[in-house]
Amino acid sequence: MNPKQKVLSKAARQLLAIEELFDGLALPVGGPALPEFNQARAVEGEIIPELPAIEKTQALASMDADEIKPCTKCVLSRTRTNTVFGEGNTDADLVFVGEAPGHDEDMSGSPFVGRAGKLLTKMITAMGLSRDDIFICNVIKCRPPNNRTPAVEEVSACWGYLVRQLQIIRPRVIVTLGNPSTKTLLNTTEGITRLRGTWQEMPNTDPSLAGIAVMPTFHPSYVLRRYNAETRGLVWSDLQSVMKLLGLKMPK
Ligand code: URA
Repeated sequence: MNPKQKVLSKAARQLLAIEELFDGLALPVGGPALPEFNQARAVEGEIIPELPAIEKTQALASMDADEIKPCTKCVLSRTRTNTVFGEGNTDADLVFVGEAPGHDEDMSGSPFVGRAGKLLTKMITAMGLSRDDIFICNVIKCRPPNNRTPAVEEVSACWGYLVRQLQIIRPRVIVTLGNPSTKTLLNTTEGITRLRGTWQEMPNTDPSLAGIAVMPTFHPSYVLRRYNAETRGLVWSDLQSVMKLLGLKMPK
């Protein structure tokens, strides 16, 4: 494939995904105000230097091999088949954070590969991106039995891993998928219905991440359960706000 064909087919894939998921759904009028973001991460005024891309990949690979795969910090280590570290571009501007691996993810070791994952992949394609452009992970790295909601101590045990992933990748934007991810990252009790579609900032729960732009949106599993024009239209408007912030264009 020559570079021109590649560009064309990427635009074609994007148009197809938009048509399939979001065709005819109203574009947001204006959309929420764009946040100012400060890419320089600092703790107490000390700027934390960003790692070169190759070192980010190495740091994440070591974390996965040395800490996540052998992790026994909580009871989920006893029932998991595989840990699910997350995957994608380790130098991504955009990170999607879900709740926890489900059955398909536990079997494969990769995030969002089941039905919800296929929908998430289409959402990413509609933005003009692929899974190799962004990073996808979850709040917790092991599947809770029967996909039950993760317990507070399970989330706490895993929190440091997510913080380190985000410190290393240093995204400009985090999209939180659904309630548990939104509440955990933003350290809030406010629900997804109120927060979705509004720009938020990572709080000071971990000073090194404070200020990263966060866009909460519905979890793809919820979209599958309520596959109607209203739900899909809201998700599309959230994704378009992210596209606007990242300077991603609609194909001509
Ligand atoms: N749901 C999630 O929150 N994460 C996954 O990886 C899969 C389904």
